[in-house]
Amino acid sequence: MTTPGRPVLLDWRAAIHFRRDAPCVLCGNPTPLRSHDGEAAHEVCAEAWNAAHPGKTRFVSDAQPRKRTSGGDHA
Ligand SMILES: [Zn+2]
Repeated sequence: MTTPGRPVLLDWRAAIHFRRDAPCVLCGNPTPLRSHDGEAAHEVCAEAWNAAHPGKTRFVSDAQPRKRTSGGDHA
């Protein structure tokens, strides 16, 4: 569940997000960042777009390998 009006911060630290500078599709200023679909966009611009378009998945964050279960029953 996403709360309307509360922007979800994107995590675009993976190397796949960095190319040469291109105009941001949202604000027009150059950025080396790319979305997962290859669209040039600043993280803040993408976050603002997401906030303005709840439910859409145009810009998504990197998957976080943070789920670590300690001592699971998976022997
Ligand atoms: Zn931008």
